[in-house]
Amino acid sequence: MPTFEYAPAPESRAVVDIASSYGLFINGEFTDSQGGGTFKTISPATEEVLAEVTEASAEDVDRAVAAARTAYTRVWSRMSGADRGKYLFRIARILQERAREFAVLESLDNGKPIKESRDVDVPTAAAHFFYHAGWADKLDYAGLGPDPRPHGVVGQVIPWNFPLLMLAWKIAPALATGNTVVLKPAETTPLTALLFAQVCQQADLPAGVVNIITGAGPTGQALVGHEDVDKVAFTGSTGVGKAIARTIAGTRKKATLELGGKAANIVFDDAPLDQAVEGIVNGIFFNQGHVCCAGSRLLVQESIADQVEARLKRRLETLRVGDPLDKNTDVGAINSRAQLDRITELSEAGEAEGATRWSPECELPSKGFWFRPTVFTGVSQTHRIAQEEIFGPVLSVLTFRTPGEAVAKANNTPYGLSAGIWTEKGSRILWMADQLRAGVVWANTFNKFDPTSPFGGYKESGYGREGGRHGLAAYVTTGDAT
Ligand code: NAP
Ligand code: MG
Repeated sequence: MPTFEYAPAPESRAVVDIASSYGLFINGEFTDSQGGGTFKTISPATEEVLAEVTEASAEDVDRAVAAARTAYTRVWSRMSGADRGKYLFRIARILQERAREFAVLESLDNGKPIKESRDVDVPTAAAHFFYHAGWADKLDYAGLGPDPRPHGVVGQVIPWNFPLLMLAWKIAPALATGNTVVLKPAETTPLTALLFAQVCQQADLPAGVVNIITGAGPTGQALVGHEDVDKVAFTGSTGVGKAIARTIAGTRKKATLELGGKAANIVFDDAPLDQAVEGIVNGIFFNQGHVCCAGSRLLVQESIADQVEARLKRRLETLRVGDPLDKNTDVGAINSRAQLDRITELSEAGEAEGATRWSPECELPSKGFWFRPTVFTGVSQTHRIAQEEIFGPVLSVLTFRTPGEAVAKANNTPYGLSAGIWTEKGSRILWMADQLRAGVVWANTFNKFDPTSPFGGYKESGYGREGGRHGLAAYVTTGDAT
């Protein structure tokens, strides 16, 4: 096979202007904390400190919720849907105009390759605002029930794997339906949310409609537990999701939880193999495998297992791991040392339990957090790497003989977020999709996202849907319900 050398092709950082420190975005302005501390956010690719960020205290959470309440009562809930839609369209257009800035900042703060932040995260975030802008004046016709009304103040907590995109998934439907928002981004990736706060100012969004408070777990806890929050929307780990469910049990609060996953990507012997291999790579190595719906378990039909493994390894030899800002990079940095430790620990458990570990040769940068793309073969159902979410670039390969066995193995997990099927047979796709306990089932593709398509889980992957008409339903009450 010919090998190609790639010259460095770094995206310029000059397009972003990172401040040395950031306050909290409350009531339309950046403000200092009352009694909170500060923390630093770094680039996981270099460990360079990017900025100092405020850790919101319980008093700050209180101020933010109060600002959201006032904005809700006085302005946002009284505004017509058509007018709310105009603000959302404006935000969407600004996101497009400032797309490069957002992409570079996201790759710096998160470690993901620029080609992903540029081609997936930022355009899809803008698409969510465009899509929901269109719904703002049509909620009566969305089939949600009679007289759809907002809940009020929504507390939203998001993870670090798709910082801007998860923000868009949360804020766009909340605003379209007339709710106001207090959002907490993840501790390791606050910068694009703070840039989004500037976009709200630029769009002249009324003060208090969106509030962004940075901080760690305790700030999130104070937000979801705040008594004046009407609805909680959370994306993150199943452990924290369960804690939140306990906190709000017995209150009048509504909640949607988007949690972890351990998806099966199922390849049958009649699948187009080259395409399937691309789908396997996209399924688990996209975004360093920091994807809740990642195809982290490859189920391959036994008769083609050797062939698929050989093609997959050949393909992985060509992946370029390194500088997230280089336009040729396929796999960037692991988001944090804590996450790297977890991936390392689970991979060691895979070896100790008897699976065979393989990684392509690749040179890793000396600074920052890195993990080679890794494939485990000879994995059995009981291995931890087949059961637990690794949330990193690690694929566990299992085999099956019949469609029934594939379904049984795919469903043998506490999670149920997504699945993939690769086969030429349409009838088999439909039969499998019906049997799989997963919120999203992709056929002959993987990791495709669209604002019109609802996303969410079964079992311990959470409840509620985001995106599409189903996603709107989570942000309104209808009829006489309170
Ligand atoms: P995490 O630890 O659950 O954190 C998620 C968010 O919750 C962060 O903002 C975190 O703050 C905050 N938080 C932590 N403890 C909290 C508490 N007790 N109360 C309220 N908020 C709290 O998850 P993560 O490690 O950031 O993200 C990885 C997980 O998210 C994976 O399991 C993945 O599958 C899941 N995920 C799911 C989806 C989906 O749509 N289903 C999408 C993306 C990710 P700090 O960051 O400051 O700790
Ligand atoms: Mg960071």
